[in-house]
Amino acid sequence: MQTLTLEQEINPWEAQAARFDFAAQKLNLDDGLWKVLRYPARELIVHFPVSMDDGSIEVFTGYRVQHSIARGPAKGGIRYAPDVTLDEVRALASWMTWKCAVVNIPFGGAKGGVICDPKKMSIGELERMTRRYTAELIEFIGPEKDVPAPDMNTNEQVMAWIMDTYSMHMRQTVTAVVTGKPLNIGGSRGRREATGRGIGIVCDEALRYLHLQRDGCRVIIQGFGNVGSNAAKLMMDKGYKIVGIAEYDGGLYNTNGIDIHQLVEYRQRNGTVLGFKGAEAADPQELILEECEIFIPAATENVLTSRNVDRLKAKIVCEGANGPTTAVADEILADKKVFVIPDILANAGGVTASYFEWVQDRQGYFWKESVVNEQLESILAESFDDVVRYSEAHGVNNRIAAYMLAIDRVSFTIKQRGIYA
Ligand code: NAD
Repeated sequence: MQTLTLEQEINPWEAQAARFDFAAQKLNLDDGLWKVLRYPARELIVHFPVSMDDGSIEVFTGYRVQHSIARGPAKGGIRYAPDVTLDEVRALASWMTWKCAVVNIPFGGAKGGVICDPKKMSIGELERMTRRYTAELIEFIGPEKDVPAPDMNTNEQVMAWIMDTYSMHMRQTVTAVVTGKPLNIGGSRGRREATGRGIGIVCDEALRYLHLQRDGCRVIIQGFGNVGSNAAKLMMDKGYKIVGIAEYDGGLYNTNGIDIHQLVEYRQRNGTVLGFKGAEAADPQELILEECEIFIPAATENVLTSRNVDRLKAKIVCEGANGPTTAVADEILADKKVFVIPDILANAGGVTASYFEWVQDRQGYFWKESVVNEQLESILAESFDDVVRYSEAHGVNNRIAAYMLAIDRVSFTIKQRGIYA
């Protein structure tokens, strides 16, 4: 793999490209297909005005990047954050292409983002920003074109506003334009917990593969949002011992295990995990490197880098977040023989349940939660198996195996479809 500068190391697009190039080379990918898949197919940048509560007008910048529509409509979340960049959205869009291909669902990859600080905005401002951003994307998105979903700082309410805005423009209710919606307007049972549930499923598979016990298996999780808290809750219920939770403003550690149900309640009441009595306070940066069997980064990118990964003590890293490990850190993890369940497999439960939601919306027939969970389990367990078999067959680590599997599937489809002239 090429040597990267520190700046390149933490640039998600460079991180994605480094893994893509390496996997493509291992696959002996045709030069032309390499060029097709290395860059996103379409990138939209919009600068749009929003009326703020104090009567002023603010202009926001938003992106939507469609990396590939080879295997079906583009699919991917929308994030709201002050540090959103086009390179980050590009990387996330291409990861969606690979993720959908790893779990073999008929979607391409996309991602969107708006540069804003949602913590400093009122609900009214967020709604107006969301509706205007949606209006700016109106020709770009649609059930057969590109289907957004929640990501960092966007949720079911934001998806409801997008669905409503799109529907107003189409003059009819179009539920299948976004996933991750509230249940009563076309959401799917089980979608909210699906990413966390998927993490539990692939961790089970990894323990089985490595011949390790689940009961008492110590887990540290970074991020106690949608992904982290649901993974923690569902895994504790299965017998895992969640010994550490790291949040941006502090961490919690309890060697006997943290009662996650109580912590979820505490966080709902207090808006923070800090001060929870069922664990000791811990420095979040150090906590993630502590002794445990499984570390689950479920917050943000560039958490494991060349600066800290040599001190990591976990045996398994299961990537709930997208891009939490840099390419340089990957090589160090490989030397340390840490078993990595890469993001494009580990957190694919979310997009898999989103696929179920899209199918249900288009059929107008809604499944029981048990059906959603069973289908999710079977797809993720099978995908885990596909990735580890690929890794064994090609003598590469799990991440490169997942990329190779995905690139193979997408490039095969492009070859079959041919290049339109
Ligand atoms: P979220 O906003 O619900 O939760 C993120 C949590 O992480 C928050 O509690 C936040 O306070 C915390 N956090 C942020 N920065 C942190 C830091 N530096 N250290 C410690 N904690 C920090 O977001 P989410 O939906 O749970 O998504 C988390 C990650 O998972 C993102 O990378 C996202 O792209 C990825 N992901 C989400 C889904 C999904 O279905 N929600 C699916 C696939 C991947």
